[in-house]
Amino acid sequence: MAPTVAVVGGGISGLAACYHLSRGPRPPKVLLLEAGARLGGWLQSTRAADGAVFEHGPRGIRPGGAAGADTLHMVSELGLAGAVLPVPGDHPASRNRFLYVAGALHKLPSGLGALLRPVPPFSRALLWSGLRDLVAPAGTEPDESIHTFASRRFGREVADIAVDSVCRGVFAGDCRALSARSCFPRLFQAERSRRSVLLGLALGSGDGNGAESGLSRRARTERWSQWSLRGGMETLPQALAEFLRERGVELRCHQRLQSLRRCHHGGWELTLTDGTVTADHVVSALPAAALAEVLPAEAAALAQELRHIPAVSVAVVNLQYKDVTLPVTGFGHLVPSSEDGSLLGIVYDSVAFPEHNGTGAASLRLTVMLGGAWFEQSFGDPATVAPELLLHRAQAAVREQLGLEPAPTHSIVRVHQACIPQYTLGHWQRTGKWVLRSGGAPDAPSPVPSTHPGPTERISRFLAEHHLPLSLIGASYSGVSVNDCIASAKAAVERLLGPRH
Ligand SMILES: Cc1cc2nc3c(=O)[nH]c(=O)nc-3n(C[C@H](O)[C@H](O)[C@H](O)COP(=O)(O)OP(=O)(O)OC[C@H]3O[C@@H](n4cnc5c(N)ncnc54)[C@H](O)[C@@H]3O)c2cc1C
Repeated sequence: MAPTVAVVGGGISGLAACYHLSRGPRPPKVLLLEAGARLGGWLQSTRAADGAVFEHGPRGIRPGGAAGADTLHMVSELGLAGAVLPVPGDHPASRNRFLYVAGALHKLPSGLGALLRPVPPFSRALLWSGLRDLVAPAGTEPDESIHTFASRRFGREVADIAVDSVCRGVFAGDCRALSARSCFPRLFQAERSRRSVLLGLALGSGDGNGAESGLSRRARTERWSQWSLRGGMETLPQALAEFLRERGVELRCHQRLQSLRRCHHGGWELTLTDGTVTADHVVSALPAAALAEVLPAEAAALAQELRHIPAVSVAVVNLQYKDVTLPVTGFGHLVPSSEDGSLLGIVYDSVAFPEHNGTGAASLRLTVMLGGAWFEQSFGDPATVAPELLLHRAQAAVREQLGLEPAPTHSIVRVHQACIPQYTLGHWQRTGKWVLRSGGAPDAPSPVPSTHPGPTERISRFLAEHHLPLSLIGASYSGVSVNDCIASAKAAVERLLGPRH
């Protein structure tokens, strides 16, 4: 009889794990268990009556690298190629990104001219930061904060303004607390192996090729910076669910995992909202803190490590305006924490994806991102914050920073609690490469971290030493982007079933 694999958590990571588990010639019996009423996790889109699409989670996926190519391959196999909305390299949303500093919008420098002369908000030409990176000695610490790393390599001003803002845009996090080694492993490794981030990236070996598809070839030729889907990002989990049902994967919503217990046959008994199930192997696609709550007493040390992976909350405020014009055109702008901790940035959704504007009168869609690592100090408890307060703050930001005076014609406020994991200093010691098959030996620690998770440390060692038939995937461990989540699922299935299962 085919073994049973229970995948717990129906976000993009869990769905991608089911996809890879069900594709081989001899797939195991696969069961997906999701606590909520819907699948997709943070991939949430609202389609309004006028056809406008509002994204409450991810709004753009990068096509680059092996993981980007693999995601596009999956999208093709799901029959979604015709629904892809690309943003080509020459599009304003690819070329123009802004910072809001000292009360004004500044375009991030691009092109040689902008590197050779000082361009506000920077007081010196960025060429100097590049030269500094080429001559500064490599760091020797096993890990350091992103801010320390960037200050050492590129100077304090670049760290305070540009790197601080980027960390708020990607992780909704504080670059003074986040780990350079775990958040930006390629940059960290480039420095440690070539003594310079820029040199290391230029000479770097890349991260492999990923699966080729018509979409990935187009993405390269047209230099896409990102892509979305015509019906919004939620189309992706919906198409995955359809694909999985056709392959006999059992998808069960309203089934919260309450506890995990080892069975005498070596597998697991899972206690759910409605009854119990048994499985030979469990793939956890839960946030680390949620997994910690369901582990048995004998895995208390593992649970303790998982509880040390924090996550921050973000308020996502979607705004729609009629008959207004943005003062600039581009992807959007970020706000460094020195300017305003509470406001992470504003995405000009209509510029990148006008196809999502709907059919009404000239419409502009913006998304204001609030909170992150500054949520509690700015707005209090995310569980009880009043949506009106967040809407008011978002509208004020649009007025101050973009000069749009009229009230929005439509707005949606969502508070996503603990939605983005934070890889703080020392994250690599907790995580590492997952040892997914019971009895596997941990990888040997290495002085130079690999591109993806660093040397195997406490969590993976625990899994190996206790021969646990448990795989950990998802945003809590080795990358928060949608591509990273899908890649973590694929890697876990390959380790479980073999690369060409
Ligand atoms: C506001 C926002 C914007 C983002 N923007 C981008 C972007 O533009 N591009 C990009 O690439 N990435 C972006 N990301 C990151 C990316 O969307 C997430 O990291 C990714 O979706 C996480 O997927 P996941 O499956 O690992 O986790 P989740 O989506 O958190 O899924 C976990 C699932 O587990 C379920 N669950 C929890 N506990 C239990 C339990 N006990 N039993 C059963 N089920 C349980 C949950 O209900 C959930 O469905 C963004 C994230 C957010 C929050």
